[in-house]
Amino acid sequence: MLGSLKADILLQAAMRTETQLIIDREALQPIGAFDANSPAEAFTGKVGPRQVVLVTHGRDPTHQCDRIGTIPAATTCAAALARFSPKLIVNIGTCGGFLARGGSIGDLHLPERVAFHDQRVPIPGFREFARGELNTLPVDALRAELGALGGTCSSGGSLDATPEDRAILETLEARCKDMEAAAIAFVARDWRVPFIAVKCVTDLVDDPEAVQDAFLRNLRSATMRLATAASALLRSDYLPV
Ligand code: SAH
Repeated sequence: MLGSLKADILLQAAMRTETQLIIDREALQPIGAFDANSPAEAFTGKVGPRQVVLVTHGRDPTHQCDRIGTIPAATTCAAALARFSPKLIVNIGTCGGFLARGGSIGDLHLPERVAFHDQRVPIPGFREFARGELNTLPVDALRAELGALGGTCSSGGSLDATPEDRAILETLEARCKDMEAAAIAFVARDWRVPFIAVKCVTDLVDDPEAVQDAFLRNLRSATMRLATAASALLRSDYLPV
């Protein structure tokens, strides 16, 4: 089955925790590893007429943790594109929000744009390449249906933010900070597959509390909000597939 399975929608999430509720609610069936050189895992099922494949980045064989971050995001996306030929990629996960932009824990975002805040190359041409700004597929009606916000989601390799990162996040007017969206958008652009992201705020980047403490406290409620959003998205009349 795996060799010929094609997806209408590819849902990609870094962490298994972020997806278990979606797997349960949509009764997605495990199909295990789909790339011989990666621990990424896939699950599949039909939601109405749509064939859905959900991939997570899997557990790192050396460090025994979920493979969060831009590198597993890009390699998992490329492998899933090659294997499942999806018509749409949806990156689903948690993110940091910003008090200065009116953000709150639990906010849901369907960003209009993605970028990288920690790739800095002060050479003309490379500067813009490294910043990696890309527009997501325009989905205003879906955003309204889900009660989600728009804005820019900026990705980087770290959960914390250095002063340089913060200055660039400010320039980008970022409303979400994550570790995957811009990497997946980069691969999706090369493959000419439309890309959107659904992000729920677990922590506030500009709050005095350490982001990891807020993240761990709010992960469960964010996961529930993401599962509800995923169910609505997978059944939406406003998707192009
Ligand atoms: N330490 C956590 C896992 C890492 S949190 C644990 O033990 O479970 C980072 C994950 O959440 C990444 O996949 C990232 O996309 C997302 N994320 C949430 N808040 C973030 C923030 N403020 N900055 C960057 N990524 C964030």
